[in-house]
Amino acid sequence: MRSDVIVVGAGLAGLAAARALVAGGASVTILEARDRVGGRTEGGTLSDGQWIELGGQWVGPGHDRMYELIAELGLETVPTYNTGKTVIHLGGRRTLMGELKGAVPRLDPFSLVDLGQGLARFAALSKRVNLDKPWESPDAPLLDGQTFETWIRRTLKTKNGREYFRVACEAVMSAEPGDMSLLHAAFYSKSGIDLETLMAVDQGAQQDRVLGGSVQVSERMAEALGDRVVLGAPVRRIAQSDSGITVTTRDGRDFDADRVIVTLPPALAGRLEYEPALPSWRDQLTQRVPAGSVIKQYLVYETPFWREDGLNGQAGSDRGPVKVTFDNSPPGYERGILLGFMEGADGREYARRTPEERRQAFIDSVVPYFGERARDVVEYHERDWMAEEFSRGCYGAHFTPGTWTSYGPALRDPIGRIHWAGTECAPVFNGYMEGAVRSGESTAAALLA
Ligand code: FAD
Repeated sequence: MRSDVIVVGAGLAGLAAARALVAGGASVTILEARDRVGGRTEGGTLSDGQWIELGGQWVGPGHDRMYELIAELGLETVPTYNTGKTVIHLGGRRTLMGELKGAVPRLDPFSLVDLGQGLARFAALSKRVNLDKPWESPDAPLLDGQTFETWIRRTLKTKNGREYFRVACEAVMSAEPGDMSLLHAAFYSKSGIDLETLMAVDQGAQQDRVLGGSVQVSERMAEALGDRVVLGAPVRRIAQSDSGITVTTRDGRDFDADRVIVTLPPALAGRLEYEPALPSWRDQLTQRVPAGSVIKQYLVYETPFWREDGLNGQAGSDRGPVKVTFDNSPPGYERGILLGFMEGADGREYARRTPEERRQAFIDSVVPYFGERARDVVEYHERDWMAEEFSRGCYGAHFTPGTWTSYGPALRDPIGRIHWAGTECAPVFNGYMEGAVRSGESTAAALLA
């Protein structure tokens, strides 16, 4: 059977694209490698049946399409727990910070002035980025020719100021500042409004969650698409000719269509076979846009004991391996769920360790933040996204130095009948669920037009 369009990948981008195409009257087949939909969003459960989220989870200000979609699909959002102070652990010193957006850590006066100036300079630099065409931003070659780390070292004068930016980079992009170009860091920050919004719970990117889990957004879209969604169908090869497209799965099934939308992250899209071979600029782009490195972890306690100490469960630290935590206990749940991430270099190092070592390292990380009671863990869960064959890293991907300016247009320009979508293609909320949905919908709109 021939479709108008084949969509490769049933994550948020693929499902949003398929939904828009079907609404526009096109016939669609969605080929998904995994035996589930949702891609980088995934549900899980604790031993008592309580839902948790193993992948992407938060929505916040500006995530308008996600909020609309959540409501359209009959789902609700709940606020992230954010009552009490945040623990800041820098240079071996523990201080507390207010939970409202704009709060600054209590640092020595030199660090504070340094950090304030650094944040202002980064914000000014980000504002100038052209989100649709980052390579056409003012001074693009200069910004793209250096790493974010180079800029941090040159701009920030104090150790605390530098560490703050490094932790922010790991927390927001799950990569080290030395991994990406300064232009990319500035682009990513503006794409998600600004660095402060990306890091905040209050009025920030961590503001709300989908009650029951974000994966339900994909599940409900897939339900409505019915048997157009083919699970357990890893695509191996895409062949195009004047007459159409043939997509072949690993087990040798052929699917024919007029067009294909590939929604895989660039590194995975580059691993497919193409006939004829893709032009050099598209292949070289996919060689230069790696996924971030992250392991998402949960510690479960009898109670959210940190709340009794006036803490909101959030921590930010320059000591790893878990530098960032959140209280992920949903409203009304009596036990306490502490969420942590091993990101960037920490994630890479701990990927080689055992789950037991990662559990212990998580506990050892959080005792200095929340005290000895943090040792009384009753349950542990984790998901190493680097090990996932059909993701190979998260949250999103980052552009290495020189890539935006050398290969930027190859990210979204179609190659004949092959079109690209996915959160990495999004000018706005790149790397986020919001970016994935917007990218899927805009590629579908272009095809329908
Ligand atoms: P994907 O979800 O990666 O979809 C691609 C699909 O293609 C997948 O289903 C995959 O299985 C499939 N696939 C891969 N290879 C093949 C193949 N060969 N053949 C067929 N199918 C294939 N975002 C937020 O907005 N808020 C958050 O709080 C947040 N936190 C995150 C935390 C973690 C731990 C992770 C992993 C991600 C997080 N994100 C967050 C990012 C967010 O989840 C992603 O941006 C978004 O889900 C990407 O959607 P996508 O459709 O572009 O890509």
